[in-house]
Amino acid sequence: MSILPKITATRQLGQSDITISSMAWGMWRFAGRDVSEATQLIHAVLDCGITLFDTADIYGFSGVDGFGDAEDLLGEVLAKDKSLRSRMTLASKGGIMPPLPYDSSAAYLDKAIDATLSRLGSDTIELWQIHRPDILAHPQETARALEDAVQKGKIGHIGVSNFTQSQIVALNHFLDQPIVSTQPEISALRIDPMENGELDQAMVMDMTPLAWSPLGGGRIASPDDERAHAVVKELDRIAEAFNVSREATAYSWIMAHPSRPIPIIGSQRAERIADAMDAMAVQWSRQDWYAVLVAARGEALP
Ligand code: NAP
Repeated sequence: MSILPKITATRQLGQSDITISSMAWGMWRFAGRDVSEATQLIHAVLDCGITLFDTADIYGFSGVDGFGDAEDLLGEVLAKDKSLRSRMTLASKGGIMPPLPYDSSAAYLDKAIDATLSRLGSDTIELWQIHRPDILAHPQETARALEDAVQKGKIGHIGVSNFTQSQIVALNHFLDQPIVSTQPEISALRIDPMENGELDQAMVMDMTPLAWSPLGGGRIASPDDERAHAVVKELDRIAEAFNVSREATAYSWIMAHPSRPIPIIGSQRAERIADAMDAMAVQWSRQDWYAVLVAARGEALP
């Protein structure tokens, strides 16, 4: 039986010199708790060995208000406990302006980056990602704004999220530094990036894929249709064999791809985040890995 390589606990962030944990933690669902609870949660995440933290200026937005709330809360935690900031590689995103226009014009990005830094109470952030592509922004203008922020030391590295492959090529063409990460939705319920070339492009360009909603937003924990049930049946078989949870198995399935995607854990419960670390214990055979893929495709491989 052909066994896939074991997952390592750390990896490089794209072409940067930053070493990050192989699993990240996301703050989409972080706002709305008090500072003491938020501090405990962040300590719990770091204690698991997770060093990559993913937030965004829009996290906390309820459709009416709350824009910036997740960054604000993190900023309050970091201000109160000065030991935390140096233990994390911090990633944020911008370029979505509520309620919905996307804006990657130089003027907007410049303001958005400054606002993020001010909310976080930080002079710099290690990774800053364009959250969603703005079709109306010329990539040359976007590239200039991002490079300017790098040159001023406001952002360490540039990443993208929800970009098509051609949008990545276009932005990259006008940048004089590498795009170090790309953040698509990836899970055993969302396999498109494994089949449509996105992860191949990530390997070619040495971008670290950051997998958003790695449990399909919770649907792997609570499957709600036939396809999801078929997928969790395959995951559960492996979970049982390695004596780990279905969720840890689902993260490890993503991580076994040769582009080494980093699942961004979305749970805000310390015990579930700790449980996720069991993902490192799973070793996939080609046969078992493909069995999950086939269940996700809903049809046999050709
Ligand atoms: P997810 O891991 O797919 O889903 C997490 C959700 O599943 C939480 O509500 C969690 O609830 C629930 N859940 C239920 N049972 C669980 C279990 N046993 N273990 C773990 N979770 C369980 O991730 P997500 O929250 O949708 O997204 C993760 C991160 O991806 C976000 O925080 C954000 O950083 C990023 N993201 C990025 C984009 C983008 O456009 N770039 C879009 C969406 C998300 P509990 O909290 O109660 O455990």
